Amino acid sequence: MEDERSAHLEGEVIDCQGKIVTKSFAIGHHHAYSALARGMGAPTKNPENFYEILKYIWWKLDKSLDREMIEASALSTAIACAKAGSTFVIDHHASPEFIPDSLEIIAKAFDKVGIGHLLCYEISDRDGEEKAEEGLEETAAYLSNRQGLVGLHASFTVGDETMKKAADLMQKFRTGFHIHVAEAAYDEKVTEENFGKTVVERLKEFGALNSPKTILAHCLHLSDKEKELVRKSKAWVVQNPDSNLNNHVGFFDGSELGERIMLGTDGMHSDMIRTAQQAYFLGQTFDSIDVNSAYQRFKNVHEYLNVNNFEGDGENNLVVLDYKSPTPVKSENFTGHFVYGLRASDVQHVISNGKLIMRDRQIVTVDEDEVLGASKEQALWLWRRMRL
Ligand SMILES: [Zn+2]
Repeated sequence: MEDERSAHLEGEVIDCQGKIVTKSFAIGHHHAYSALARGMGAPTKNPENFYEILKYIWWKLDKSLDREMIEASALSTAIACAKAGSTFVIDHHASPEFIPDSLEIIAKAFDKVGIGHLLCYEISDRDGEEKAEEGLEETAAYLSNRQGLVGLHASFTVGDETMKKAADLMQKFRTGFHIHVAEAAYDEKVTEENFGKTVVERLKEFGALNSPKTILAHCLHLSDKEKELVRKSKAWVVQNPDSNLNNHVGFFDGSELGERIMLGTDGMHSDMIRTAQQAYFLGQTFDSIDVNSAYQRFKNVHEYLNVNNFEGDGENNLVVLDYKSPTPVKSENFTGHFVYGLRASDVQHVISNGKLIMRDRQIVTVDEDEVLGASKEQALWLWRRMRL
């Protein structure tokens, strides 16, 4: 005991004089698998709508992923998260040609860098019954060993039989769904045509809205009735402003969706400060938001993780911000600095689960240059496979 205590006292001292020390950040909706997309060539056909964006870009990419690419994507994403101040990621993964073991590969990569995680596999009927079954099996295998969610792509690609099996897994493992909801109007249109109801009504029927662990990503094209159902449910909503802009699918308005709104990057990048600022600026026209509510949405992910007793986002997760300001920084005006001044590059040190994972902007748990070198190689393989 004596030795342990003195060893603890002799631990590394970080000088935080003049710095801001706060809880590290967390990402409410991410896709590590999209990490190797940056800089890739144009798709074979220029997408004209949301469905074509999925068909010609993302579904082509995720079908080309193998073990090495998934690992490289997860390692480089974990580094990007840490460098931008996040120590916890809620991820939504898809790799239809490499499903078994894919979640464990990501979990191990995140563990290696020191990033907490809540993972799921994107179950879908978009590639046929066999792939849907593999997705369900991967989910069950992973949830038997680790904390996670039951991932589903979106209502319009999941039939009733698969949805029922996913709901059974949700009950069995006492967890929630993590699903894209009305990201584009197309989701509502196809759901209405095929199932005769709205996306949110359908999710309610399968019991997904009763779980406080359920995550509904996007929620852009909901009817008033659906908004009411979401508001009165236990589920959480994730706003992904940069992704919505990129996919030209519309603008988020949280004003009728209740208090349980958090923020995500949807695989665009791993920078939560930028995400919160984007939510704030877009919200001046399309939403009801001020600097305090923007900051609240940014912080809500901690509440989600805490109320659901997920591990890895406790008190011993901290960032030290080296923030230089021409005006006084006080607790009363911090949210103003957060929206108008703070940058990810101000993140100097990161402590994850009590362990220093970034010191002076250098990742200490893995060799960043080595990881990025390997991921560049994997990106070339991926692009070749996608024929870009
Ligand atoms: Zn997404």
